[in-house]
Amino acid sequence: MPPSTTCDVLVVGGGGAGLAAAIEAAERGAEVVLLEKNAALGGSTAWSVGSVTASQTPHQRRAGIEDNPLHHWQDMPGFAGPLASRDNDDLRRVLCEAMPETFAWLLASGIRFMGPMPEPPHRVARMHNVLPNSRAFIYHLSRRAQRAGVRVVTHVHVHALVSERGEVIGVDAQHLGQTQRWLATGGVVLAAGDFTNAADLKARFMGEQAAAIEAVNPTATGDGQRMAEAVGAQIVNGDLALGPEIRFMPPARGHWLLRLPPWRWLASAMAWAIAHVPAVLLRPLMMKFLTTALAPSPELFAQGALLVNTAGQRVDTDSGDPAWRLPQQPGKVGYVLLDHELAKRFSAWPHFVSTAPGVAYAYLDDYRRNRPDVCHVAPNLQALARAIGVPPEALQQVVAHTHMAERTHQPMVALGPVRAVFVHNEGGLRVDAQHRVLNTDGQAIAGLYAAGSTGQGGLLLKGHGHHLAWAFTSGRRAGQMAAERARLST
Ligand SMILES: Cc1cc2nc3c(=O)[nH]c(=O)nc-3n(C[C@H](O)[C@H](O)[C@H](O)COP(=O)(O)OP(=O)(O)OC[C@H]3O[C@@H](n4cnc5c(N)ncnc54)[C@H](O)[C@@H]3O)c2cc1C
Repeated sequence: MPPSTTCDVLVVGGGGAGLAAAIEAAERGAEVVLLEKNAALGGSTAWSVGSVTASQTPHQRRAGIEDNPLHHWQDMPGFAGPLASRDNDDLRRVLCEAMPETFAWLLASGIRFMGPMPEPPHRVARMHNVLPNSRAFIYHLSRRAQRAGVRVVTHVHVHALVSERGEVIGVDAQHLGQTQRWLATGGVVLAAGDFTNAADLKARFMGEQAAAIEAVNPTATGDGQRMAEAVGAQIVNGDLALGPEIRFMPPARGHWLLRLPPWRWLASAMAWAIAHVPAVLLRPLMMKFLTTALAPSPELFAQGALLVNTAGQRVDTDSGDPAWRLPQQPGKVGYVLLDHELAKRFSAWPHFVSTAPGVAYAYLDDYRRNRPDVCHVAPNLQALARAIGVPPEALQQVVAHTHMAERTHQPMVALGPVRAVFVHNEGGLRVDAQHRVLNTDGQAIAGLYAAGSTGQGGLLLKGHGHHLAWAFTSGRRAGQMAAERARLST
């Protein structure tokens, strides 16, 4: 058996949920170790757009919006539609009731937001967006964790839970080629994210076709769910996911706006500007963000844009979602083809290329200005084919049988490469309202807590800003519970 290290509370995963759990436990006096498999903290939290939905925020009050957790709880099923009956109403109540305080906690941690923005069927504006980008969550929460005395260890890949007489007492992990055992008196909080990039779990819950599709976050491999299943836990809503979605390839180094340092003064200055500077002046800034992070609208295909692969063959967009077909194309990528007429149409309302609902809309010119790497314009089809490296004869053949046939000598546009990805999935462990992981008989597994995507518990988080809200809320609460258990055990 490897030599072991003992603490009060062990947290597996350093995204939003894990950091929140570690901070809460440490601020309650527990000795906390946070283990992260990657070289840096962040997870999907750092990939996110950064919207957080909450009621009774200072931002809502400033905007004269009266809101409360009950209304939030009542509005959320409107996003779930026919799936609403599969929701976990109790966890939804936990989330909505805790969010006013969690939002205040994020502000107190130094994180700044713009908003609120409307997003029906929310009856009032509740969606807030982090400034300047989602790295701010990790930057400010890591600093708070450090101040609270959390020991953060990176490059530690936790692969198994250690149990004794039915109680989880620690984990086994690999650290730079060495096996380690970490023990905890209060418990283990699993906050290891979702399984959007775990082929085995996706095959099991969503089918083989889904298993072949990659995720935005390549290290979201469902380790927490898998480890917990080995000690009798159960995954719920494993078949539900956001995706596959067609998305533009991200820019090589990430846009400068997404690399802005998450300093508090900068975020405050941005918040001030958003509140006081006319929207028309801010639009160019918003566009840089929108064209970096978002998906091309399906309306492009509905209006007649064509999807082609790199061999110049057409990818069917008429029967079913083309996102399922892209992974079977060479290099798993494609291009969205627009003729002159369509390009004109997607240059003004109501035909946008991308949107962050309620925040802003990006048109073709925004892509031309901000993403020349994915917006190719050429004087005719032949030149366009050469620009994107597709055989011109093949492209000519595809277009020959479409409404574009007459316009191939006019300017043409190709948007891409685009690929299909899963953004996040809903398959978390079944947990109770204290975030204790339950076994298949519905009994709590002693010493084991789960938070964020790993501990989603059947809660449906449709609509924007609810996944991050759950990560922070459930993380904080699981950390508090584990710290209390550690206190009682001494
Ligand atoms: C592109 C994108 C945009 C999004 N935008 C939004 C948004 O605007 N609003 C919103 O609410 N939600 C959004 N989401 C979803 C949201 O980001 C996630 O649901 C949320 O961040 C999950 O937080 P988490 O802490 O549970 O997991 P994560 O943030 O993924 O953290 C999990 C951590 O655990 C670590 N880990 C995993 N396995 C192990 C292991 N075996 N050992 C040690 N460490 C391990 C991972 O490396 C990672 O650091 C978005 C997601 C994506 C991908």
